[in-house]
Amino acid sequence: MRITRRAEFSASHVCCQPSLTLEQNRELYGAAANPSGHGHNYILEVTLEGEPDPVTGMIFDLKKLKDIIQQSVIEPMDHRFLNFEVPPFDKVVPTVENVAAEIWERLRAKIDGGGARLENVRLYETDDLYVDYTGDPS
Ligand SMILES: [Zn+2]
Repeated sequence: MRITRRAEFSASHVCCQPSLTLEQNRELYGAAANPSGHGHNYILEVTLEGEPDPVTGMIFDLKKLKDIIQQSVIEPMDHRFLNFEVPPFDKVVPTVENVAAEIWERLRAKIDGGGARLENVRLYETDDLYVDYTGDPS
């Protein structure tokens, strides 16, 4: 069985690969490469997989899940400029793909265990664009 909790945060970013020129970055990322940055209202959906505990009826303590998401993702990222304030995005381009992978890494160790595992991180950057990340296959 799977259960999903949703959370939202707002953050700004610049899509810029430091090893490329501004011109190359503009070609790759378009207006998203503008050095002044721009913001998104990100929507995060965290899905856990497991069997409901026979006593509690829950896959995972949902209050605990909310606290983990709050402490690991929302507090450090909400109302931040990702490139300047949230490592590793001083070195890693904060595309929606890379932000989802970073969120996965932050959540996985805190969730896996006790019969539940992190199954998917879905991150919406806009209404019509999201990624699903289920971990590094290697
Ligand atoms: Zn953007």
